[in-house]
Amino acid sequence: MLRLAIQKSGRLSDDSLQLIRECGISFVSSSYKLKVEASNFPLEILYLRDDDIPGYVQDGVADLGIVGQNVLVEAGCAALEVEALGFSKCRLSLAVPRGAEYNSVADLQGKSIATSYPKLLGDYLAGEGVQANLHTISGSVEIAPSIGLAEAICDIVSSGSTLLGNGLREVETIFRSEAVLIAAPTLSPDKQELLDQLRFRMQAVRRAQRSKYIVLNAPTSALAAVKALLPGIKSPTVTPLAEEGWVSVQSVVEEDKFWHIAGELQAIGAEGILVLPIEKRVG
Ligand code: ATP
Ligand code: MG
Repeated sequence: MLRLAIQKSGRLSDDSLQLIRECGISFVSSSYKLKVEASNFPLEILYLRDDDIPGYVQDGVADLGIVGQNVLVEAGCAALEVEALGFSKCRLSLAVPRGAEYNSVADLQGKSIATSYPKLLGDYLAGEGVQANLHTISGSVEIAPSIGLAEAICDIVSSGSTLLGNGLREVETIFRSEAVLIAAPTLSPDKQELLDQLRFRMQAVRRAQRSKYIVLNAPTSALAAVKALLPGIKSPTVTPLAEEGWVSVQSVVEEDKFWHIAGELQAIGAEGILVLPIEKRVG
């Protein structure tokens, strides 16, 4: 049985649970149980604080974990990462009070900086040749400059609205993070086999999330141009329509290229362009 540690409640929790479910693994979760067993895969899920997950996996208390790279690297456990998961994307940034002068990171020389990420920040500043006094605090970092605790902060940012609301200005991004699957340094052959199965499923789910199924009608005369726009996984499926001179084309497109391709397809005479979600994509 594999033991997977996920965040009990926070920004990683919902997406972690959804990913496990999309991998076809069923379990009943309840808010007071800190350990649940899946009914159709040898998996036990532990609900923990995210800060504790890297240590538990490093020590083999849990075999696997889902955690943000920021927390993983801060814990000195970067080597445990086995798979990037694409959610909970955020960045770790330096910010200063809006009115403060700032031209480059050299301006932080000798200044005091509040952060919950002393290792990541310390490594970054060392790389830039800047020495600063780091104040490690575990939350509400944005308040530090306004109460005189520090002259700058380094914290997680996604939209920037928290910084704005506290009169701060983002000046450097020092680290980009997303959720990752981590694994204990040594796993028994049986557990390794289960991990391989789980990763295979996770990859199929992620590939599907990035792809869309596209169906359209096109004049036969435009077929070569349509094929060039929609190479698909191997090649598009082309079937004749009942109406002479028209074909139906089915293919797969990357989600982020869809709008551009849809415009081009319309320009060459395609009609009735339908886009459908893909649930799983293997290979
Ligand atoms: P815990 O109580 O488990 O210690 P926490 O308060 O430390 O939780 P959360 O705020 O839930 O942590 O964030 C968990 C992780 O989600 C962060 O470590 C980071 O990787 C990511 N994250 C944080 N803020 C954001 C955000 N605004 N957008 C997207 N991802 C974020
Ligand atoms: Mg935490």
